[in-house]
Amino acid sequence: MTPHRFTTRDDWFAMQRVADGIYHITEPHYRADYRCNIYVVKGSQRDIIIDTGLGLGSLRTFVAPITDNPLLVCSHSHYDHMGSNFEFEERVIHPAEADIVAHPTAQNTYADPVLVTEDFYELPWPGFEARDWVAEPAPATGLIDEGDIIDLGSRSFVVLNTPGHSWGSICLWEEKTGVMFCADTVYEGELFDFLPCSDIPTYIQSFQCLLEYPVQVAYPGHGPILDATRFRTVIETYLRQHQS
Ligand SMILES: [Zn+2]
Ligand SMILES: [Zn+2]
Repeated sequence: MTPHRFTTRDDWFAMQRVADGIYHITEPHYRADYRCNIYVVKGSQRDIIIDTGLGLGSLRTFVAPITDNPLLVCSHSHYDHMGSNFEFEERVIHPAEADIVAHPTAQNTYADPVLVTEDFYELPWPGFEARDWVAEPAPATGLIDEGDIIDLGSRSFVVLNTPGHSWGSICLWEEKTGVMFCADTVYEGELFDFLPCSDIPTYIQSFQCLLEYPVQVAYPGHGPILDATRFRTVIETYLRQHQS
């Protein structure tokens, strides 16, 4: 097996502490609306990392100064969220997408056709072509579904299954703080509800459920962090456009 190729650039990722115990990591050389928001959430007993980006840089090495061996919670199996899954020892995902991360291809993760070389401002290495992108198999070590609790000690999240963008899309909800990690279900920008794995009536149902939660701050899979108003506005705008 050829070893996975990582960039040697030291500026592949950027990290920012965005709240107490929450770090936001992104890949600034990939187009702004497609680059994934990765989060590290620290707890007293354990840490989690939510999603892993493109896998073109070593995320495990990059986050080592702030977290050692976090539990990877993969929000769904699209190429922009799972590239470095294989770097983490413990990984959980919804059962609907477990087969994809165990046997990923450019096609079933949508790297083909979405990931293109022209969408990089800087390349991970000279001569990089999007078709070089390799999805490493990383079978889940555990499955998560609606109502499961992810306990970090000092903080605790409930798993919500919010299909629509994809069947296995999940959100993480922390009642105590009103924090919602909402991945590709809710973000500002064009919502992808037209993929073969998407379903609009199901998306509408997930949105109706999400409106029941008293969200204070939402950390999406793309774009800016959302306050309560912006979170609701994204959902209500979509519902208005799709319900007559
Ligand atoms: Zn997605
Ligand atoms: Zn995405």
